[in-house]
Amino acid sequence: MNPLPTILLLSLYELGHQPHGLASPRAHLAQAGLPAHAVDLSVEPFPTEIAARADFVGISVPMHTALRLGVSAARRIRALNPRAKICFYGLYAALNEPYLRETGLADHILAGEYEASLLEWLQPAFTSHESRITHHALHPHPSYLLPLRASLPALSSYAHLLCDDTAYVAGYTETTRGCLHTCTHCPVVPVYGGRFFAIPVETVLADIRQQVEMGAEHITFGDPDFLNGPTHALRIARALHAEFPGLTFDFTTKVEHILQHRALFPEFRALGALFVISAFESLSTETLIRLRKGHTPAELDTALNILHAADLPVQPTFVAFTPWTTLDDYLKMLNWVRTRGVVNYVPVVQYAIRLLIPPKSELLTDPDTARWLGPLDPENFSYTWAHPDPRMDTLYQEISALAERMAEQFADTDPCTAFEAIERVAYALAGQAAPPRLGRAHLLPPPPRLTEDWFC
Ligand code: SF4
Repeated sequence: MNPLPTILLLSLYELGHQPHGLASPRAHLAQAGLPAHAVDLSVEPFPTEIAARADFVGISVPMHTALRLGVSAARRIRALNPRAKICFYGLYAALNEPYLRETGLADHILAGEYEASLLEWLQPAFTSHESRITHHALHPHPSYLLPLRASLPALSSYAHLLCDDTAYVAGYTETTRGCLHTCTHCPVVPVYGGRFFAIPVETVLADIRQQVEMGAEHITFGDPDFLNGPTHALRIARALHAEFPGLTFDFTTKVEHILQHRALFPEFRALGALFVISAFESLSTETLIRLRKGHTPAELDTALNILHAADLPVQPTFVAFTPWTTLDDYLKMLNWVRTRGVVNYVPVVQYAIRLLIPPKSELLTDPDTARWLGPLDPENFSYTWAHPDPRMDTLYQEISALAERMAEQFADTDPCTAFEAIERVAYALAGQAAPPRLGRAHLLPPPPRLTEDWFC
């Protein structure tokens, strides 16, 4: 019998939580009798000794930042150990398959419900040591196992919940995979094509339970959208609260779902929901239509009112810079944040988010790409684009530099200071006087939040 192969799974970055991209495939490998070393390079050193003797290396790339870092890790592994077979898995692996294949960094690419496919790839390759390059489609009936978290870095190594100036240990789990919607800018869409899968309630509960035993005092439900299956979500939240009445949670859901399922929010709050993340995206009707968001600028107010009524703060996310967002739209966004009193709700990075167009993006089919789309920049895993109004690209440069400086201080300084600085830059570019200083007393207080802000 062949000896067991040495398998190394690497995670680079998962928004500051313990990587699901390690815990989930490890469970499937362990069930098949294939132990794997799992290393999270966001909090652990590069495992040189294991990488040098690994037969197979899986690199988890669920987001753009992870792929950038994952490519560097793959180069390092190739230099150390040319015979290792490397598989990139996760959303951004599928989107960037040609680059990863042509540069010789990947022997294999998987995305979507990748766990079973990873196993399928490893089992014959383990015997023959032959690699194949295959892009697997979604498994029609994916199976979900309890994520294997033992020996991963402690939850206390990751982003904490910050609530009333106190830090709490946070865990992370998912109740669904994929998404029912088809927003044009979303990396989930080319992989899942408007489909989503529910993870069994018992599996989600068992994962919450094991993280509570590891010290979790709060759970982030990291589904692309928690309310794709509202009955499923409610069942899980009720079960969580029944078993752990003191445990709090947060989740992500779209504006359209906040409006559709408005009746559920008071109950989510009573069950322990502390805050919600929602893709508000833009105050520009044109941009919301192009991104196929399913909501209007006016509905941002409705969503905010629904959440206020349920005593649930929202962390809105924005795609502040797109080819259709004018300078006037940008000022409208700032004005909306100011007049709704939610300056403390919006992480400063959100004012500097620029539309990312990965290969295979739905946006490539937009009817007027000739006005703004540039060539693919494969090393940055996205298409270049320029705004038809060059002032918007200047504004982006200035705001992103400013936001970067301010973000480092966000936890410790008054977010109003960052917001006012952003206002000054934007209004100056528009040739207008910036609004007066914010009346701090009229703003909603800083809501509970995670110490790592959401971005792509
Ligand atoms: S609702 Fe969210 S996760 Fe779903 S397609 Fe739109 S942006 Fe993506």
